Amino acid sequence: MTQSLLMEILQQRTAATLLRQTNPPEVVSGQVLAFPFLALVGQVEMKTALVLTVINPAVGGVLLIGPRGTGKTTAVRGLVDLMPPVRRSLCPYGCELEAVETWGIDAICPNCAAKLARGEELTGMDRMRLVELPLHARLEDVIGGVNERLAVEQQKIRLERGILAHAHRNLLYIDEVNLLDDMIVDAILDAAAQGRVTVRRGPLAATYPAELMLVGSMNPEEGKLRPQIQDRFGLRVVVGGLDDSNERLEIYRRVRAFRENPHQLLATFLQDTVTFGQEIIKARELLPNVDLLPEAECLGLQMVRELGIPSHRAEITMLEAARAYAAADGRRATTASDVAVVAPMALRQRRSKFIREYWEMSQVEEQEIKAAWHSVVTAGT
Ligand SMILES: [Zn+2]
Repeated sequence: MTQSLLMEILQQRTAATLLRQTNPPEVVSGQVLAFPFLALVGQVEMKTALVLTVINPAVGGVLLIGPRGTGKTTAVRGLVDLMPPVRRSLCPYGCELEAVETWGIDAICPNCAAKLARGEELTGMDRMRLVELPLHARLEDVIGGVNERLAVEQQKIRLERGILAHAHRNLLYIDEVNLLDDMIVDAILDAAAQGRVTVRRGPLAATYPAELMLVGSMNPEEGKLRPQIQDRFGLRVVVGGLDDSNERLEIYRRVRAFRENPHQLLATFLQDTVTFGQEIIKARELLPNVDLLPEAECLGLQMVRELGIPSHRAEITMLEAARAYAAADGRRATTASDVAVVAPMALRQRRSKFIREYWEMSQVEEQEIKAAWHSVVTAGT
Protein backbone atom coordinates (compact mmCIF):
# COMPACT_ATOMS: atom_id res chain seq x y z
CA MET A 1 0.00 0.00 0.00
CA THR A 2 1.40 3.43 -0.85
CA GLN A 3 1.62 5.80 2.05
CA SER A 4 -0.76 8.75 2.16
CA LEU A 5 0.62 12.28 1.85
CA LEU A 6 -0.86 12.99 5.26
CA MET A 7 1.23 10.25 6.87
CA GLU A 8 4.34 11.15 4.93
CA ILE A 9 4.15 14.70 6.18
CA LEU A 10 3.36 13.64 9.71
CA GLN A 11 6.42 11.40 9.51
CA GLN A 12 8.70 14.14 8.21
CA ARG A 13 9.17 13.93 4.52
CA THR A 14 11.55 16.74 3.74
CA ALA A 15 10.08 19.80 2.18
CA ALA A 16 12.67 19.69 -0.56
CA THR A 17 11.32 16.41 -1.97
CA LEU A 18 7.85 17.89 -1.88
CA LEU A 19 9.01 20.87 -3.88
CA ARG A 20 10.56 18.67 -6.56
CA GLN A 21 7.48 16.52 -6.94
CA THR A 22 4.92 19.23 -7.45
CA ASN A 23 4.12 20.83 -10.76
CA PRO A 24 2.60 24.31 -10.59
CA PRO A 25 -1.14 24.15 -11.36
CA GLU A 26 -3.51 27.08 -11.89
CA VAL A 27 -3.63 29.89 -9.40
CA VAL A 28 -6.76 30.70 -7.46
CA SER A 29 -6.86 34.41 -6.79
CA GLY A 30 -9.06 36.67 -4.70
CA GLN A 31 -8.40 34.89 -1.40
CA VAL A 32 -6.62 36.13 1.67
CA LEU A 33 -3.24 34.52 1.26
CA ALA A 34 -1.74 32.43 4.01
CA PHE A 35 1.74 30.92 3.77
CA PRO A 36 1.07 27.30 2.73
CA PHE A 37 1.11 24.83 5.65
CA LEU A 38 2.96 22.30 3.49
CA ALA A 39 5.70 24.84 2.72
CA LEU A 40 6.70 24.97 6.39
CA VAL A 41 10.10 23.39 6.86
CA GLY A 42 10.65 20.99 9.78
CA GLN A 43 8.59 21.47 12.99
CA VAL A 44 7.01 18.02 12.51
CA GLU A 45 5.61 17.84 16.02
CA MET A 46 3.84 21.19 15.70
CA LYS A 47 2.35 20.21 12.34
CA THR A 48 1.29 16.81 13.67
CA ALA A 49 -0.41 18.32 16.74
CA LEU A 50 -2.35 20.83 14.63
CA VAL A 51 -3.48 18.24 12.10
CA LEU A 52 -4.54 15.77 14.83
CA THR A 53 -6.70 18.42 16.49
CA VAL A 54 -8.41 19.18 13.15
CA ILE A 55 -9.04 15.45 12.60
CA ASN A 56 -10.39 14.89 16.11
CA PRO A 57 -11.76 17.87 18.08
CA ALA A 58 -11.82 15.63 21.20
CA VAL A 59 -8.04 16.06 21.30
CA GLY A 60 -8.89 19.37 22.93
CA GLY A 61 -6.69 21.80 21.05
CA VAL A 62 -3.03 22.65 21.00
CA LEU A 63 -0.76 24.99 22.93
CA LEU A 64 2.36 26.09 21.07
CA ILE A 65 5.13 27.28 23.36
CA GLY A 66 8.25 28.97 22.06
CA PRO A 67 10.08 32.16 21.24
CA ARG A 68 8.97 34.59 18.55
CA GLY A 69 9.79 33.94 14.91
CA THR A 70 9.59 30.15 15.01
CA GLY A 71 6.57 29.86 12.72
CA LYS A 72 3.81 29.24 15.27
CA THR A 73 1.32 31.77 13.91
CA THR A 74 2.29 30.99 10.31
CA ALA A 75 1.54 27.29 10.88
CA VAL A 76 -1.85 27.98 12.46
CA ARG A 77 -2.90 30.39 9.70
CA GLY A 78 -1.68 27.93 7.07
CA LEU A 79 -4.27 25.42 8.32
CA VAL A 80 -7.01 27.52 6.67
CA ASP A 81 -6.48 25.80 3.32
CA LEU A 82 -6.69 22.34 4.92
CA MET A 83 -9.89 22.85 6.88
CA PRO A 84 -12.60 20.21 6.47
CA PRO A 85 -16.27 21.04 5.94
CA VAL A 86 -18.48 21.16 9.04
CA ARG A 87 -22.21 21.63 9.53
CA ARG A 88 -23.00 25.13 10.73
CA SER A 89 -25.77 27.69 11.04
CA LEU A 90 -26.68 29.71 7.96
CA CYS A 91 -27.84 32.63 10.13
CA PRO A 92 -25.71 35.57 11.31
CA TYR A 93 -27.02 34.92 14.83
CA GLY A 94 -25.84 31.32 14.71
CA CYS A 95 -29.32 29.79 15.19
CA GLU A 96 -29.38 25.98 15.21
CA LEU A 97 -32.05 23.33 15.61
CA GLU A 98 -30.35 22.01 18.78
CA ALA A 99 -31.00 25.38 20.45
CA VAL A 100 -34.76 24.98 19.84
CA GLU A 101 -34.67 21.42 21.18
CA THR A 102 -32.84 22.52 24.32
CA TRP A 103 -34.22 25.97 25.10
CA GLY A 104 -37.38 26.30 22.99
CA ILE A 105 -38.35 28.40 19.97
CA ASP A 106 -37.28 31.68 21.61
CA ALA A 107 -33.67 30.52 21.46
CA ILE A 108 -33.55 31.32 17.71
CA CYS A 109 -34.18 34.56 15.83
CA PRO A 110 -37.62 35.33 14.26
CA ASN A 111 -36.20 34.78 10.78
CA CYS A 112 -35.04 31.26 11.63
CA ALA A 113 -38.28 30.49 13.50
CA ALA A 114 -40.13 31.34 10.26
CA LYS A 115 -37.71 29.19 8.24
CA LEU A 116 -38.28 26.32 10.63
CA ALA A 117 -42.06 26.70 10.28
CA ARG A 118 -41.66 26.43 6.49
CA GLY A 119 -39.66 23.25 7.00
CA GLU A 120 -36.37 24.79 5.80
CA GLU A 121 -32.91 23.85 7.06
CA LEU A 122 -31.19 26.16 9.54
CA THR A 123 -27.74 24.68 8.89
CA GLY A 124 -25.59 23.81 5.92
CA MET A 125 -22.11 22.45 5.18
CA ASP A 126 -19.36 25.05 5.22
CA ARG A 127 -15.60 24.91 5.58
CA MET A 128 -14.24 25.04 9.14
CA ARG A 129 -12.84 28.51 9.78
CA LEU A 130 -10.01 30.03 11.72
CA VAL A 131 -11.26 32.63 14.19
CA GLU A 132 -8.56 34.75 15.80
CA LEU A 133 -9.01 36.27 19.21
CA PRO A 134 -7.19 39.61 19.27
CA LEU A 135 -5.12 40.27 22.38
CA HIS A 136 -6.95 43.51 23.19
CA ALA A 137 -10.48 42.21 22.60
CA ARG A 138 -13.08 43.55 25.07
CA LEU A 139 -15.23 41.17 27.08
CA GLU A 140 -18.33 42.09 25.03
CA ASP A 141 -16.42 41.33 21.81
CA VAL A 142 -15.63 37.90 23.22
CA ILE A 143 -18.94 36.79 24.74
CA GLY A 144 -21.29 39.05 22.75
CA GLY A 145 -23.40 42.08 23.56
CA VAL A 146 -25.81 44.65 22.18
CA ASN A 147 -25.56 45.35 18.47
CA GLU A 148 -24.38 48.95 18.69
CA ARG A 149 -25.18 49.87 15.10
CA LEU A 150 -28.82 48.80 15.42
CA ALA A 151 -29.06 50.52 18.80
CA VAL A 152 -27.79 53.84 17.43
CA GLU A 153 -29.41 53.84 13.98
CA GLN A 154 -32.76 52.23 14.69
CA GLN A 155 -33.09 52.40 18.49
CA LYS A 156 -33.50 48.61 18.46
CA ILE A 157 -31.87 46.49 21.12
CA ARG A 158 -30.68 43.21 19.75
CA LEU A 159 -28.05 40.91 21.22
CA GLU A 160 -25.38 39.60 18.94
CA ARG A 161 -22.84 36.84 19.09
CA GLY A 162 -19.30 37.43 20.20
CA ILE A 163 -16.07 35.80 19.09
CA LEU A 164 -16.70 32.64 21.16
CA ALA A 165 -20.02 31.93 19.43
CA HIS A 166 -18.48 32.71 16.03
CA ALA A 167 -15.85 30.12 16.88
CA HIS A 168 -18.50 27.39 17.30
CA ARG A 169 -17.16 24.26 15.55
CA ASN A 170 -14.31 26.39 14.27
CA LEU A 171 -10.73 26.73 15.33
CA LEU A 172 -10.22 29.55 17.83
CA TYR A 173 -6.67 30.85 17.70
CA ILE A 174 -5.35 32.87 20.62
CA ASP A 175 -1.88 34.28 20.08
CA GLU A 176 -0.07 35.37 23.26
CA VAL A 177 -2.63 33.47 25.30
CA ASN A 178 -0.54 34.05 28.45
CA LEU A 179 -1.05 37.82 28.17
CA LEU A 180 -4.86 37.72 28.03
CA ASP A 181 -6.94 39.51 30.61
CA ASP A 182 -8.18 37.18 33.39
CA MET A 183 -11.86 37.98 32.68
CA ILE A 184 -11.45 36.98 29.04
CA VAL A 185 -9.64 33.79 30.04
CA ASP A 186 -12.49 32.90 32.41
CA ALA A 187 -15.07 33.48 29.67
CA ILE A 188 -13.13 31.20 27.31
CA LEU A 189 -12.77 28.50 29.99
CA ASP A 190 -16.50 28.67 30.75
CA ALA A 191 -17.44 28.35 27.10
CA ALA A 192 -14.93 25.54 26.53
CA ALA A 193 -16.30 23.62 29.53
CA GLN A 194 -19.99 24.08 28.69
CA GLY A 195 -19.88 24.15 24.90
CA ARG A 196 -22.01 27.30 24.92
CA VAL A 197 -21.87 30.93 25.88
CA THR A 198 -24.56 33.06 27.51
CA VAL A 199 -24.85 36.82 27.02
CA ARG A 200 -26.86 38.91 29.48
CA ARG A 201 -27.61 42.62 29.07
CA GLY A 202 -30.26 43.87 31.50
CA PRO A 203 -33.47 41.97 30.80
CA LEU A 204 -32.08 40.42 27.64
CA ALA A 205 -30.25 37.10 27.57
CA ALA A 206 -29.21 34.79 24.79
CA THR A 207 -27.33 31.50 24.72
CA TYR A 208 -25.25 30.49 21.73
CA PRO A 209 -23.51 27.18 21.02
CA ALA A 210 -19.72 27.44 21.31
CA GLU A 211 -17.97 24.11 20.87
CA LEU A 212 -14.41 25.32 20.61
CA MET A 213 -11.20 23.94 19.26
CA LEU A 214 -8.60 26.04 21.01
CA VAL A 215 -5.18 26.70 19.58
CA GLY A 216 -3.01 29.00 21.66
CA SER A 217 0.52 30.20 21.30
CA MET A 218 2.80 31.86 23.80
CA ASN A 219 6.33 33.00 24.38
CA PRO A 220 7.27 31.76 27.87
CA GLU A 221 9.70 34.68 28.29
CA GLU A 222 6.74 37.04 28.40
CA GLY A 223 4.78 35.57 31.28
CA LYS A 224 3.29 32.39 32.68
CA LEU A 225 -0.01 30.84 31.74
CA ARG A 226 -2.55 30.24 34.50
CA PRO A 227 -2.69 26.49 35.30
CA GLN A 228 -6.47 26.33 34.60
CA ILE A 229 -6.05 27.43 31.01
CA GLN A 230 -2.85 25.45 30.52
CA ASP A 231 -4.73 22.24 31.45
CA ARG A 232 -7.49 23.16 28.95
CA PHE A 233 -5.21 22.58 25.95
CA GLY A 234 -5.01 18.93 24.97
CA LEU A 235 -1.57 18.89 23.35
CA ARG A 236 1.43 21.09 23.99
CA VAL A 237 4.37 21.52 21.67
CA VAL A 238 7.62 23.27 22.50
CA VAL A 239 8.62 25.03 19.30
CA GLY A 240 12.25 25.98 18.94
CA GLY A 241 14.32 27.31 16.06
CA LEU A 242 15.76 24.70 13.69
CA ASP A 243 19.38 23.58 14.18
CA ASP A 244 20.11 22.53 10.60
CA SER A 245 21.58 25.39 8.58
CA ASN A 246 20.30 23.97 5.29
CA GLU A 247 16.76 23.87 6.64
CA ARG A 248 17.09 27.42 7.94
CA LEU A 249 18.30 28.55 4.52
CA GLU A 250 15.33 26.79 2.91
CA ILE A 251 12.99 28.69 5.25
CA TYR A 252 14.59 31.97 4.21
CA ARG A 253 14.19 31.09 0.53
CA ARG A 254 10.53 30.21 0.92
CA VAL A 255 9.71 33.26 3.00
CA ARG A 256 11.35 35.38 0.32
CA ALA A 257 9.56 33.50 -2.47
CA PHE A 258 6.23 34.09 -0.69
CA ARG A 259 6.97 37.80 -0.20
CA GLU A 260 7.98 38.32 -3.81
CA ASN A 261 5.31 36.18 -5.47
CA PRO A 262 2.85 34.55 -3.06
CA HIS A 263 0.69 33.09 -5.84
CA GLN A 264 3.66 31.25 -7.30
CA LEU A 265 4.53 29.59 -3.98
CA LEU A 266 0.87 28.75 -3.31
CA ALA A 267 0.60 27.26 -6.79
CA THR A 268 3.62 25.09 -6.15
CA PHE A 269 1.91 23.56 -3.14
CA LEU A 270 -1.69 23.71 -4.37
CA GLN A 271 -2.04 20.13 -5.59
CA ASP A 272 -0.53 18.68 -2.40
CA THR A 273 -2.67 21.01 -0.29
CA VAL A 274 -5.82 19.73 -2.00
CA THR A 275 -4.73 16.09 -1.54
CA PHE A 276 -3.80 16.68 2.09
CA GLY A 277 -7.17 18.35 2.77
CA GLN A 278 -9.01 15.37 1.26
CA GLU A 279 -7.01 12.99 3.42
CA ILE A 280 -7.99 14.98 6.51
CA ILE A 281 -11.66 14.62 5.50
CA LYS A 282 -11.17 10.85 5.03
CA ALA A 283 -9.50 10.55 8.44
CA ARG A 284 -12.38 12.46 10.06
CA GLU A 285 -14.90 10.11 8.43
CA LEU A 286 -12.98 7.05 9.58
CA LEU A 287 -12.48 8.30 13.14
CA PRO A 288 -15.83 7.10 14.64
CA ASN A 289 -14.81 3.54 13.64
CA VAL A 290 -11.31 3.74 15.10
CA ASP A 291 -10.79 1.86 18.36
CA LEU A 292 -7.92 1.37 20.78
CA LEU A 293 -6.21 -2.00 21.16
CA PRO A 294 -5.98 -3.05 24.85
CA GLU A 295 -2.16 -2.79 24.67
CA ALA A 296 -2.48 0.84 23.53
CA GLU A 297 -4.78 1.75 26.42
CA CYS A 298 -2.54 -0.07 28.85
CA LEU A 299 0.61 1.69 27.69
CA GLY A 300 -1.09 5.09 27.90
CA LEU A 301 -2.31 4.59 31.44
CA GLN A 302 1.07 3.23 32.56
CA MET A 303 2.78 6.38 31.26
CA VAL A 304 0.39 8.65 33.18
CA ARG A 305 0.91 6.62 36.34
CA GLU A 306 4.69 6.53 35.96
CA LEU A 307 4.83 10.32 35.62
CA GLY A 308 2.38 10.90 38.47
CA ILE A 309 0.12 13.24 36.47
CA PRO A 310 -3.05 14.22 38.36
CA SER A 311 -5.18 15.60 35.47
CA HIS A 312 -7.41 13.02 33.77
CA ARG A 313 -7.20 15.19 30.67
CA ALA A 314 -3.72 13.70 30.16
CA GLU A 315 -4.96 10.23 29.22
CA ILE A 316 -8.14 11.47 27.52
CA THR A 317 -6.08 13.68 25.23
CA MET A 318 -3.37 11.10 24.66
CA LEU A 319 -5.77 8.32 23.67
CA GLU A 320 -7.91 10.62 21.48
CA ALA A 321 -4.78 11.93 19.74
CA ALA A 322 -3.60 8.35 19.20
CA ARG A 323 -6.97 7.48 17.61
CA ALA A 324 -6.65 10.52 15.32
CA TYR A 325 -3.14 9.36 14.38
CA ALA A 326 -4.41 5.88 13.48
CA ALA A 327 -7.25 7.47 11.46
CA ALA A 328 -4.70 9.62 9.61
CA ASP A 329 -2.96 6.38 8.67
CA GLY A 330 -6.25 4.85 7.50
CA ARG A 331 -6.38 2.22 10.27
CA ARG A 332 -9.27 1.21 12.53
CA ALA A 333 -7.04 -0.18 15.27
CA THR A 334 -4.95 2.19 17.39
CA THR A 335 -1.69 0.56 18.48
CA ALA A 336 0.76 1.16 21.30
CA SER A 337 3.13 2.84 18.81
CA ASP A 338 0.42 5.37 17.91
CA VAL A 339 0.21 6.19 21.61
CA ALA A 340 4.01 6.47 21.78
CA VAL A 341 4.02 9.06 18.95
CA VAL A 342 1.54 11.38 20.66
CA ALA A 343 2.47 10.77 24.32
CA PRO A 344 5.08 13.56 24.64
CA MET A 345 2.63 16.14 23.26
CA ALA A 346 -0.15 15.01 25.58
CA LEU A 347 1.91 14.59 28.74
CA ARG A 348 4.49 17.37 28.79
CA GLN A 349 3.92 20.27 31.17
CA ARG A 350 1.13 18.48 32.96
CA ARG A 351 3.10 17.59 36.05
CA SER A 352 2.92 20.08 38.86
CA LYS A 353 5.57 20.24 41.58
CA PHE A 354 3.12 22.06 43.80
CA ILE A 355 0.40 19.39 43.49
CA ARG A 356 2.93 16.58 44.08
CA GLU A 357 4.28 18.20 47.24
CA TYR A 358 0.76 19.05 48.40
CA TRP A 359 -0.29 15.44 47.87
CA GLU A 360 2.73 14.11 49.78
CA MET A 361 2.06 16.54 52.65
CA SER A 362 -1.58 15.48 52.87
CA GLN A 363 -0.55 11.84 53.04
CA VAL A 364 1.85 12.56 55.88
CA GLU A 365 -0.92 14.45 57.69
CA GLU A 366 -3.32 11.58 57.09
CA GLN A 367 -0.86 9.22 58.79
CA GLU A 368 -0.48 11.64 61.72
CA ILE A 369 -4.25 11.87 62.18
CA LYS A 370 -4.53 8.06 62.16
CA ALA A 371 -1.66 7.76 64.67
CA ALA A 372 -3.24 10.40 66.95
CA TRP A 373 -6.60 8.63 66.77
CA HIS A 374 -4.95 5.34 67.60
CA SER A 375 -3.07 6.73 70.63
CA VAL A 376 -6.20 8.52 71.96
CA VAL A 377 -8.27 5.35 71.60
CA THR A 378 -5.62 3.09 73.23
CA ALA A 379 -5.09 5.62 76.07
CA GLY A 380 -8.85 5.59 76.71
CA THR A 381 -9.12 1.80 77.08
ZN1 LIG B 1 -31.33 32.97 13.09
